[in-house]
Amino acid sequence: MDVNIGSSTLTIVEGDITKEATDAIVNAANSGLRGGGGVDGAIHRAGGPAILEECRAIGHCPPGRAVMTTGGNLKARFVIHTVGPVWSGGNRNEAGLLKSAYLESLRLASKKGLKSVSFPAISTGAYGYPLSDAARIALQTAVDFLREDPSIETVRFVLFGRPAFETFAEELKKLL
Ligand code: ADP
Repeated sequence: MDVNIGSSTLTIVEGDITKEATDAIVNAANSGLRGGGGVDGAIHRAGGPAILEECRAIGHCPPGRAVMTTGGNLKARFVIHTVGPVWSGGNRNEAGLLKSAYLESLRLASKKGLKSVSFPAISTGAYGYPLSDAARIALQTAVDFLREDPSIETVRFVLFGRPAFETFAEELKKLL
């Protein structure tokens, strides 16, 4: 499913983000940047040790912020590592931090001159963020960003499994 935002395109697809050929893919990292399970583990397995080496050199990334490394053996040239919030009921600024994770990733991509970025559904796995709320924040943040900054031509949300894709599709329809 594609929507045009000015001269840019926002796309949602079902798939595996490690296969994406955008300039960068975004990793739902932990603040120690040590790799782990879920999409983080999949990206490090597919991209090889060069990514973890750069992560070690960077050291740390607080929730709501983003850092960039090589894409190693991935098709994507770069990995943007961002840290989403751990869901703990909704009263600990989870929404603000989730929005910031998307926004800081997009700002970093724009600053580095990248034209295309793929995102997973940050915080919706091990970190427990309710999926439709997370989808709404992800999509709204990307749409608002593209309206302000057309330098990024393509933003893709790569959803793992049919239910996640369907939820993003529903929220995208509501938003437009
Ligand atoms: P978090 O700790 O931020 O919750 P997870 O990796 O546990 O991160 O989950 C984030 C989302 O990434 C979940 O929706 C999960 O289904 C999804 N995911 C897991 N593997 C992949 C993959 N290879 N490509 C895209 N999304 C993935």
